[in-house]
Amino acid sequence: MTLSTADTARLDDFWRHCLEHQFFNIGYPENADFDYSALERFLRFSINNCGDWGEHSNYVLNSFDFEKDVMAYFADLFDIRREDSWGYVTNGGTEGNMFGCYLARELFPDGTLYYSRDTHYSVAKIVKLLRIKCRAVDALPNGEIDYDDLLAKIAADGERHPIIFANIGTTMRGAVDDIAIIQARLQQAGIARRDYYLHADAALSGMILPFVDTPQPFTFAAGIDSICVSGHKMIGSPIPCGIVVAKRRNVERISVEVDYISASDKTISGSRNGHTPMIMWAALRTHSPAQWRRRVAHSLKSAQYAVNRLRAGGIDAWRNPNSITVVFPCPSPGIARKYGLATSGDTAHLITTPHHRDTRFIDALIDEVIAEARPEVWRATLQRSWHANTQLPPRSTSWAGGARLDGR
Ligand SMILES: *Cc1c(COP(=O)(O)O)cnc(C)c1O
Repeated sequence: MTLSTADTARLDDFWRHCLEHQFFNIGYPENADFDYSALERFLRFSINNCGDWGEHSNYVLNSFDFEKDVMAYFADLFDIRREDSWGYVTNGGTEGNMFGCYLARELFPDGTLYYSRDTHYSVAKIVKLLRIKCRAVDALPNGEIDYDDLLAKIAADGERHPIIFANIGTTMRGAVDDIAIIQARLQQAGIARRDYYLHADAALSGMILPFVDTPQPFTFAAGIDSICVSGHKMIGSPIPCGIVVAKRRNVERISVEVDYISASDKTISGSRNGHTPMIMWAALRTHSPAQWRRRVAHSLKSAQYAVNRLRAGGIDAWRNPNSITVVFPCPSPGIARKYGLATSGDTAHLITTPHHRDTRFIDALIDEVIAEARPEVWRATLQRSWHANTQLPPRSTSWAGGARLDGR
């Protein structure tokens, strides 16, 4: 490729921008700690996974073999027999949620979808696109769905086939809806297991809970019908991606035969990214369960560190069990912008993704939050000269990403 001098300069500028900001992210759950250099050479190929990885396709430049391995991994991780499951590599959590809702609607065309007010905004798009009847349910203060309100709304609607959209880690508060309570309450209400659908949105926590000591129940063994996880969040990926896993017998109802590629297509898009299955495959092949556990433990420890420091500074911070999302009162727009925080109403959060290998960036943010909200506490802190760094950490090669900050 030959670019003009001006265009090359423009790319160089963007390259510097990316280098400078690659580890900045603290308000969003994207983990930047990854290395897929072994896959870079495949970028010259138009790899396309159109259709079902389990079938033969006439489009030979596909990475179906890798996608199959990825799906086997997640079937095992989420407690469903490989032969009883079916799923694929998606464009991200939203597509996985859409796939789960699509399956549910095919099973229960007149069913109402219930989701808590703390649910990711993508569900609003999904119910519109799929024209599913829906009802927002109140959330408890920690972000979990309000089980009483859920059951009250199902009863008020006289709904015989509820579709429950459960959060396994909400976006703003990292709350996990209790699958066991939901199922027990539905049973008490006289709704049999075959008469409702339970989708689990585990965009971030789907790669956290399998690697903690006491996870909240969230797998097929716990009673879910489908689950989605984002690949660019806890795992980390240069291209947004994710997976969805569902029960094979439900998926078989939505298969569309396509003679053009001579395969059946159960997926939502036509052409599908052939590179992201390889990215996810490489991530899973290069990290043992023990390594995921270490990564998750590190992130959870960093989250608790942030809670402790904020609380010591007089800021009302907290987090849910097994969550790397630290919730605290919204700081000024200036701080939110400087640190790229996601805010909602009067709360903000920071997320201790694995690329925060030390606490310097977290400390810098917390220092500013305390100095702004509790100047008297902050002055006392400074007098004890405990932690006087109110500046962003200098751009060095050591604080987060090691040598890779230089662009390898
Ligand atoms: C991020 C997120 C999504 C959306 O996932 P994308 O990969 O961005 O499409 C859905 N649900 C939750 C809980 C999320 O955190």
